[in-house]
Amino acid sequence: MSSRQSDIYVGGGLGGRDGRGAPLDLRGTGGAGPSAGGRRPGSRRWLLIIGALAVFVLAWMFGPRLLSLSVPVRLNGETYKVKTGTPVTQFIDDHLNVDEYTGDLLAIDGSPLKINEGETPVVTVNGRPAAKRATVKAHDVVVVTMGADRTEPITENSTLVQPKLSRNGHGQMIEVTDTGQVGVKVTPVGDESGLQAPTEVRTKAKAVKLRQVNAWKVRPKVVALTFDDGPNPGETESVLKILAREQVPATFFMVGSSAKAYPKLVKAVADGGHQLALHGFTHKSLDKLKSAEVESELKQTAEAIEEVTGARPDWLRPPYGAVNASVYSLLGEQHTKVALWSVDPHDYQKPGAKAIASRVVDGVGPGSIVLLHDGGGDRKQTVAAVEVIIKKLKQKGYRFVTIQQMWNLSQ
Ligand SMILES: [Zn+2]
Repeated sequence: MSSRQSDIYVGGGLGGRDGRGAPLDLRGTGGAGPSAGGRRPGSRRWLLIIGALAVFVLAWMFGPRLLSLSVPVRLNGETYKVKTGTPVTQFIDDHLNVDEYTGDLLAIDGSPLKINEGETPVVTVNGRPAAKRATVKAHDVVVVTMGADRTEPITENSTLVQPKLSRNGHGQMIEVTDTGQVGVKVTPVGDESGLQAPTEVRTKAKAVKLRQVNAWKVRPKVVALTFDDGPNPGETESVLKILAREQVPATFFMVGSSAKAYPKLVKAVADGGHQLALHGFTHKSLDKLKSAEVESELKQTAEAIEEVTGARPDWLRPPYGAVNASVYSLLGEQHTKVALWSVDPHDYQKPGAKAIASRVVDGVGPGSIVLLHDGGGDRKQTVAAVEVIIKKLKQKGYRFVTIQQMWNLSQ
């Protein structure tokens, strides 16, 4: 009992916290003692070393980020020290004049219009497009390249190209064999510079093709009397009487507005066995009108006549003989043929019935188309000349036909 007290208890020594007392381990080997509450000192030292190492590694890995340390980042070949976590955009702004990397605004001809008002610069980080909110990391390689140039906004001014006429033959009876096509040309104009680029053909114009029948070659000896600008109260009836008496058919190119105003005269002409045809609704020069207006002129006239006769006329004499490619194209679509004339005594100038008659009789040959007027003014001279014309031409052996009959004969 006494020996235990003497050789052991020193109090307050290592491992003595349990109050029971413990042997002092001077060898310092640690860990082998019987005491349950203590650790051996050698084990603690290793833990300290491992812990320090871990802290060192973690600090090496995450330290810069946590502590916002400056790291090297390359920008367009130069290396800069920059705090990690800095937005890439800010990093670039701090070191480059970004505006200088913006493309230019070019005029339509390719010349510079406004410097650095083109596309924004292209930014890559480590060879890939930079994300919107990207931040820099150590050893990132940031490259800023010029944004593309941008061409100013452009307005295209287009112009229509009227088709040309391709004529086959030389006669006064004209059939459209190909309605052709209106061309479209486009001229680009720069909105800001006002400069024009070369005009380009968007749609190529295609010629309107005509077949013209030469009435002069028609055999046998036939002639067509035609009356324009009616129907007209008084003169039209007088002409009809003479034609009926002489048993001569003629062709009446009617003004639509007159046909609409005098349906009884339209009926009288039809009842006389004559051909009814179109001469426009208001006697305007068709080549001066827009396509829609020409269409309306023809449609209204055709309807005024058709309402009375039940038949739609398919021949036109254009007022003043004025007709162009686009009018022909429209006529082709409507299967309407054109009749011009080969003998014009200028009866509308009222040179006297005698002069009118002799001009016609002297001018007529086989297949002639004679232009006379039963409307558009006082036509008493014409009326007086008609009987003379018919009698003299009959004496010369001529036979009278309508335009449609002459066309049929010449096919
Ligand atoms: Zn006329």
